[in-house]
Amino acid sequence: MLYRKVPKNGDELSILGFGCMRLASNPDGSIDEERAVKQIRFAIDRGVNYVDTAWPYHMGESEPLVGRALAGGYREKVKLATKLPSWLIGSREDMDKYLDAQLEKLKTDHIDYYLVHALVGDLWDTVAKLGITDFLDKAKADGRIRNAGFSFHGAGEDFNRIVDAYDWDFCLIQYNYLDEKNQAGTAGMEYAASKGLGIIVMEPLRGGNLTRNVPPAIRSIWDEAKTKRSPAEWALRWVWNHPEVTVVLSGMNDESHIQENLKIADQAYSNSLTEAELQLVKKVEKKYRELMKVGCTGCQYCMPCPSGVNIPLCFEHYNNLYLADNPDGEKFMYAARLGGAVALGTPEFASLCVQCGQCIEQCPQHIDIPTVLESVVAELEGPGFEERVAMAKQMFKQT
Ligand code: SF4
Ligand code: SF4
Repeated sequence: MLYRKVPKNGDELSILGFGCMRLASNPDGSIDEERAVKQIRFAIDRGVNYVDTAWPYHMGESEPLVGRALAGGYREKVKLATKLPSWLIGSREDMDKYLDAQLEKLKTDHIDYYLVHALVGDLWDTVAKLGITDFLDKAKADGRIRNAGFSFHGAGEDFNRIVDAYDWDFCLIQYNYLDEKNQAGTAGMEYAASKGLGIIVMEPLRGGNLTRNVPPAIRSIWDEAKTKRSPAEWALRWVWNHPEVTVVLSGMNDESHIQENLKIADQAYSNSLTEAELQLVKKVEKKYRELMKVGCTGCQYCMPCPSGVNIPLCFEHYNNLYLADNPDGEKFMYAARLGGAVALGTPEFASLCVQCGQCIEQCPQHIDIPTVLESVVAELEGPGFEERVAMAKQMFKQT
């Protein structure tokens, strides 16, 4: 296992972190506790020292499971990360209430890496007004948290604004070779790193979409490589190739994936991919964009939409629907992320579009945005949509 240093505190973190959002599960969706605990401990025994969970994961059951998995001496071997459910915060007191409940659920007296969860610009403004920076200062001072960070799903300019708004130790961003311009993107990552923040990366495989059901046209490009690697290894190596990146989180719930990721993490030095290999990844990225239903890069120039549609996020899920073989999962993620379950409960889905046409001229990719949004509605807001939104809301409001 390779380790990288967090600039602000000198912690040596394993470059592979164990993400606990999608743990090994039973057929009914509940956590397969015996298997999940074994997997977490197996990874720790082989050098993983960063474990990441959050309040809503597995309907509130991930944190208690992690608490049990880290019993028997494992807690001392890891840096534990969890997240304040920012969308549930209505007052300054709520912040302490959730943190104290999380310490109880995780059976620990401190959180090593505590994040304000799933920020977008508006949500940041809300928690900032409610006193989030005072809360983080006090929780650090009284030892309940050791490092303060945030996870981010918004637009690039809001990312820099949030980086500048507090003396953060680290941040958690979505990053992979298809998301260089999406959300925080490469520019945001470099900006945060230049300010001394440790960079934790989520979704290195874009929710598995870069490894599941890889189209033949993509496989044949990977086959051109001199050094043969799986699509997962290419995607992970590409992220780790960036020296700014500290830890890459992988939601590992299959023994073979854990073994594979551990093996890759033994050799994934920064700046270790050759120029020819980087060009090959570019070629794959280009081909994926051709195969996608809509060539949205996530640049956000079309935003904000006066009707509240989150255009790039609608397109991200629409593309994922075609790139992966998990339509039910993708439809659920669309309902959860755009249906108002998080981010202040404000719906942002495609059916809010009133076809005003204002966004069309803004798009450098010349996408006929309102027309494509109609297809998004047809495919992602069909039968069962209301039920999925209700289920997601229940999941994210789990107490
Ligand atoms: S056409 Fe639709 S998506 Fe575009 S700005 Fe108007 S309402 Fe928003
Ligand atoms: S302007 Fe075009 S490419 Fe950029 S986010 Fe909007 S739809 Fe996507």
